[in-house]
Amino acid sequence: MHWRIRKCVNCKIYTIKEVCPRCGSKTIVPHPPRFSPEDKYVMHRVRMKYPELIAKLEEKFSKESEKIQGH
Ligand SMILES: [Zn+2]
Repeated sequence: MHWRIRKCVNCKIYTIKEVCPRCGSKTIVPHPPRFSPEDKYVMHRVRMKYPELIAKLEEKFSKESEKIQGH
């Protein structure tokens, strides 16, 4: 599911629409997207699907962090 719960600050009601069905003003997403639990799912799915790719990326990152720590 790709929709997020949104909120109208005028009416203080929750909706999935970008525009409040009651007053017509723009709704906001009450929580920042980075706190979404979906992100963890995506990383997990990528990990399951492309284990070699993730391993390569992690190897690259660990090498780079070693470089940084070495100096
Ligand atoms: Zn409203």
